[in-house]
Order: sequence, then structure tokens, then C-alpha cells
Amino acid sequence: MARRAVVTGASSGIGEATVRLFRERGWEVLAVARREDRLRQIAAETGATWFRADVTSDADMAALRAHVEETGPIHALVNNAGGAFGLDSVEAGSIDDWQRMFDVNVLGTKRAISGLLPSLRAGAKDAGSGDIVTVTSIAGHIAYENGGGYNAAKFAEHALVAALRLELNGEPLRVIEIAPGMVKTDFSLVRFDGDQARADAVYDGVVAPLTADDIAESIVHSVELPAHVNLDLVTIKPVAQAQPYKLTRGELTTRD
Ligand code: NDP
Repeated sequence: MARRAVVTGASSGIGEATVRLFRERGWEVLAVARREDRLRQIAAETGATWFRADVTSDADMAALRAHVEETGPIHALVNNAGGAFGLDSVEAGSIDDWQRMFDVNVLGTKRAISGLLPSLRAGAKDAGSGDIVTVTSIAGHIAYENGGGYNAAKFAEHALVAALRLELNGEPLRVIEIAPGMVKTDFSLVRFDGDQARADAVYDGVVAPLTADDIAESIVHSVELPAHVNLDLVTIKPVAQAQPYKLTRGELTTRD
């Protein structure tokens, strides 16, 4: 029997790449996001199924729960929907941006876990194990200037994952956190509200930022390991990046 995964934030970037890789590896996948046109296209290309839901909406997430329960158990939940809005100081940052970041990254992940844990438990009864993979960020572990709102949300998402792992101890359910550094996706375009030049400048001169495929590889790898092996926390950065704020632009060269 094929295993089945639910991936949130599946319409672009890391989530889309994860859907594609799961499908290549023979998983059934339910792709979840808000942009139906993109979900429809990805589903047509990969054979995934899709469901339109905004993770910040209680009603949408209740509908997702009902849909998943009707369509069978699941074996992995990938909490990937999220992102940043703005790059501002704690003093000047907009409350609205901070609320949106908290809602999508923290409460969205909480909603998905609360709604889909019963289906994961049903899957674990069949297959022996189930996985909750959450894409946080290195921003959830190390603060950087003007990142306060995103840092606060991702630190909170990290804390949620840590508490969950304690709460689920004793069940055959792995709780895995993937914390990427710089990944070249639409992340910065969203952060800067569609300002392409500002988004491009983030990656300017960085020879090889991570790709969405790099992160998908680690997500799928972590759930395909033997069921007793729990990668609690996977931190992945491009070699050019030592910390969120310590980044080499230009070729990497050995020192004499
Ligand atoms: P993208 O902007 O390409 O992808 C974000 C995805 O989340 C989209 O599919 C978007 O779909 C979905 N999404 C956003 N808001 C909602 C919502 N309210 N409800 C449902 N889905 C939503 O960026 P990435 O792929 O880079 O981001 C994926 C995750 O990785 C995020 O959690 C991000 O914080 C994290 N991350 C990214 C890094 C990077 O450098 N790129 C680094 C570290 C972590 P739609 O708009 O259709 O709903």
C-alpha cells in the first residue's frame, strides 16, 4: 500500500518540490495551499490530489480535516506553509505584519497538527509509524537585525515542535524539524510584497543558494529513514552562509 502525505504550502517553492519528490518516490500526496490554479497544475503534472485551504482559516482547516478523514489515513504531514512579511526593526515593524507571520507560521501549523493527528494515528496503526515534519527556519534559532517579527514567529514554531515531540513520546510518531537557511524561492518576493528588485538583491552574488529541491530531498529522506530513527532537527544552509547575517557574496575560495 502506498503511503500518503499531506503537504501544506504546496503551490510553490519548497512545498511544490516536496510534492514532486514524494510522487517520484511512489507516495500518494494531498497538496494544500490557497492558489487553486497552481495546485491544479501541479496535480495534473504529478498525479497528486489537491485541496484549497488557507491555514489561517479555522473553517478551511476544519474542511481539510473532514476531507482527509473521508479519503483515508495519512502517514506524513509536512507543515510547510509559512513565510515572512517585511524586514523591519522591532520598534518600527507593523503589528499587522507580525500578526500575519504569527498566524501563518505558528497557528497555521498548530491548526494542521490538531486537525490531522487523528488521521496520522490511523495511518500509524496501518503502517507502524507516522511523521510530522515542520519547516521552520534558521531564523527560528538565531535572531537577526530587522528579522524580529519573523524570528519571533519561527522561534515560536520551533517551540511548538519541541513541545509536540514531548507530548507524542510513547506513540510511533516522529516529530521532525527542518530548519533551512537561504533557499531561492518566492520567499523574498512575498516578504517584500512583490518587489522583484528587492527580492533579487537578497540572493545577489550568492553563488549557490539552496534550492527548493535541496530541502525537499531532506524532508523526504527524513521520513524514509527506518521508523525508529527520528531526525529531530535538520539545519541546512548553503556553504556560503554561516549564520543568517554571515553570508559570502561571490566565489568561495580557499585561503593560502
Ligand atoms: P514560497 O513563498 O515559495 O512558498 C510558500 C508556500 O506557502 C506557498 O505554497 C503558499 O501558497 C503557502 N502559503 C502561504 N500562506 C499560506 C496560507 N495562509 N495558507 C496556506 N498556504 C499558504 O516560499 P518557500 O517555499 O521558501 O517557503 C516555505 C517554507 O519555508 C515557509 O514556512 C518559510 O518560512 C520556510 N523557509 C524558507 C526559507 C527561504 O529562504 N526560502 C528559509 C527558511 C525557511 P499559497 O500562496 O498558494 O497559499
